[in-house]
This record gives sequence, C-alpha cells and structure tokens, in this order.
Amino acid sequence: MQITLLHYTPLHICSNAIRTCWQSFSKSDNGGYKDKELIDRVGNINKHKSTLEHLVYSFYIKGISRACLQELARHRIASYSVKSSRYTLNELKKVKIQTLQDASVFIKLTGIDKIDNANLIALQNLQALVKDSDIPIDYAKYAMPECYLTELSWTINARSLQNFLELRTSKHALWEIQELAKAIFEALPQEHKYIFEGCVEG
Ligand SMILES: Cc1cc2nc3c(=O)[nH]c(=O)nc-3n(C[C@H](O)[C@H](O)[C@H](O)COP(=O)(O)OP(=O)(O)OC[C@H]3O[C@@H](n4cnc5c(N)ncnc54)[C@H](O)[C@@H]3O)c2cc1C
Repeated sequence: MQITLLHYTPLHICSNAIRTCWQSFSKSDNGGYKDKELIDRVGNINKHKSTLEHLVYSFYIKGISRACLQELARHRIASYSVKSSRYTLNELKKVKIQTLQDASVFIKLTGIDKIDNANLIALQNLQALVKDSDIPIDYAKYAMPECYLTELSWTINARSLQNFLELRTSKHALWEIQELAKAIFEALPQEHKYIFEGCVEG
C-alpha cells in the first residue's frame, strides 16, 4: 500500500483555538515548544478532546483491499472519496492476468499460496465477465473478490484519528488494517506525531 499525506493543519491553529478559551494569545510561540506542550496538556492529558478537532489531515490511500476498506469505512467521523468500481472496472479489459505477479496489480496478496491462487482464479473469472459484452459492469462488479485493490482520499481530524489508531494498531485488529494504521501514523508530519504516540500499539 502507498500512503500520501496531501494536506494538514499547522499546530498553531490548534494551540490558537485552545488559547481562545483563556485569551492567552500573547503566550504563543507560533507552534513551538510552549504551544506543543499546551496541545498535549489540554487535548490529551486534560481530555478537552474537542480542541484536537481543529487539526485535520488529508491522505491519499492507494492499494488497500476492499475487505480493508469495509473496516476503514466503519470509522464514521472521517470523509471518504473512493475509487468507483462501476466507473473503473473496465481497467481489466486489456490486461494479461496469468500469474500472481500480474494479479498483484489488482488484488491484495496474503502470502498464503492456497488463498492467493484461489483469488487469482476469482480475478480471472471477473475479467471474463468484464470482457463479456452481454454483461453490464454494474452486474459484473458483484463478482469482485474482497481482495480487489482500491484507493481513496481520506480526511480525518486528530481526535478521530486518535480513536482510529488506538483501535486499528491493536493486535486484535485485522492484519491489513493494522498495516494501514501503522503506515498512516508514519505518514504524519514529524512534529505532530507526539499527539498520537500514546494511541499506537507495538
Ligand atoms: C478489533 C475489532 C473488531 C471489530 N469487529 C466488528 C464486528 O465483528 N462487527 C462489526 O459490526 N464491527 C466490528 N468492529 C467495528 C467497530 O464496532 C467500530 O464500528 C469501528 O471500530 C469504528 O469505531 P468507532 O465507532 O469508535 O469510530 P467512529 O465511527 O469514527 O466514531 C468515533 C467516535 O465518535 C463517537 N460516535 C460516533 N458515532 C456515534 C453514535 N452514533 N453515537 C454515539 N457516539 C458516536 C464514539 O465515541 C466513537 O468512538 C470491530 C472493530 C475492531 C477494532
């Protein structure tokens, strides 16, 4: 999978929001040590969590399975724009899919041969349906395996991202969404990571 951080709110927007409460703007150091400590104290330690909602992150997530997307999309406090299978499944029309390597462009491989080979066959079956001029794409899509890869733009605020990271870096979460959650954390700006460190397992 490939995670790109497209955009994020600078820390001083959050510290400025916090300083609104006490009108302590003059104490700001423009997102420096004092402002960072304030965000941690008020947002994390004192659990005045709504202040963290002023920090928003937009990611481009490429190469997760639709099985993983299904779990990601349960996180309601986020915004999603997902690649449409209805409009893009024609991508299978003109490609050769004979090997697992060919298939890996379109499906998430698990590393377990029996599963990956079963999914290669499922993908070949799907391709045959997409190429069949008697079958509309809107119907062919019902033959997509859960391992089919997708991509999306994902925007989430820091409060909700903390919840996501806590639940999905846990070893109890599905292996692929654990991989995704850890990659999301790694893609955060270095100076923001301290806000989330307590939410990341392992
Ligand atoms: C290990 C694991 C196993 C899971 N297994 C299953 C399963 O078997 N079946 C299944 O259906 N789901 C399962 N889930 C999904 C889980 O139930 C949640 O839907 C998912 O983790 C999203 O969490 P969330 O609701 O906290 O996130 P969000 O939807 O982003 O919500 C964030 C927070 O906002 C608040 N919130 C949001 N909406 C409401 C609301 N309507 N009312 C009150 N407060 C709200 C809550 O505080 C919530 O924590 C599993 C999750 C995990 C991590």
